[in-house]
Amino acid sequence: MSAQLVDRFGRRIDYLRISVTDRCNLRCQYCMPLTGLEFHPKSEILTFEEIVETVQVANELGITKARITGGEPLVRRDLPQLVRMLKRETDLQELSMTTNGLLLAAQAEALAEAGLDWVNVSVDSLDPKRFREITRFGDLERVWEGIERAAQAGLTPIKINTLILKGFNDDEVDRWVELTLDHELVVRFLELMPIGEGVKLKHLGSFANLTEIREELIARYGLVPARPARGNGPARYWKVPGARGMLGFITPISDKYCDSCNRMRLTANGELRPCLAYDVHVKAGEAIQRGDRAAVKRAFLRAADIKPEGHHWEVGQTTRTVMSSLGG
Ligand code: SAM
Ligand code: SF4
Repeated sequence: MSAQLVDRFGRRIDYLRISVTDRCNLRCQYCMPLTGLEFHPKSEILTFEEIVETVQVANELGITKARITGGEPLVRRDLPQLVRMLKRETDLQELSMTTNGLLLAAQAEALAEAGLDWVNVSVDSLDPKRFREITRFGDLERVWEGIERAAQAGLTPIKINTLILKGFNDDEVDRWVELTLDHELVVRFLELMPIGEGVKLKHLGSFANLTEIREELIARYGLVPARPARGNGPARYWKVPGARGMLGFITPISDKYCDSCNRMRLTANGELRPCLAYDVHVKAGEAIQRGDRAAVKRAFLRAADIKPEGHHWEVGQTTRTVMSSLGG
């Protein structure tokens, strides 16, 4: 059997986040600055063929699941074509995508036809005005339309990512819980991570401890543990007994899960990033572009080898790279 991706702490890496662009049609305040960000030069952005070849190498190393992300993946032209290629030409067993949903209505059917398994859509507020404020340009109605079209196309379970900030949208948690009673949604609450713009967000709202919020919700709604049909992430899932949907809690800070981390990130310009909390990475872009599979394999093994044991965000560590180029 060929080498597998196992890091120095015995964690097996079988999940790849693939960022297909560092550009975005929104500027969420915790993720991207309004202006002044430099994007990767076009010549460095991996082509679909190069992404597929990289995933094939990753497959040989035991990666079986992937999620397409960005920036905003749907601003990349012909994205359904990449999905089709990944489904046909690699051994991925699960392929999902994280999107802000703005362009989803138009592409949901093509994505489903191409073989995408499900989508995660980021929706930080149920209130259109707040949604616009946090995303700077977002149109909530368009995002809901995208979610509906994705559900109709069978891109289920639809998972919603909602980043909770104290003093901004923590009063919406109950509305989300109630929405899961009769909708088949998986609503995942996210803690703010001190990455890029997320470090200096104080004016809008502050870090909300989702372990505390989860405990309150368990007490108030009698939540019971649940498990979504598909997924690989660190979220812990719960549901109101009898509800059609469920709730996930992504708690990197208040309830750290680094010891079970199974992922690696491929950026749009071919960097392999083993941990969100550190700027360390292995530059595989050139090897990928010249089709040197052996070198790409070595880059994966090296990235696994330098994967840090865990983050130290809870004691003031921050990550310099903006989240939009890391992919979330
Ligand atoms: N544009 C797509 C979207 O928004 O879903 C995909 C990329 S985005 C970087 C992926 C996820 O990262 C989103 O759900 C977003 O809320 C989350 N995210 C971005 N910055 C974050 C931060 N500082 N802390 C926690 N989550 C963050
Ligand atoms: Fe764009 Fe997603 Fe970042 Fe918002 S969170 S700015 S939608 S990449």
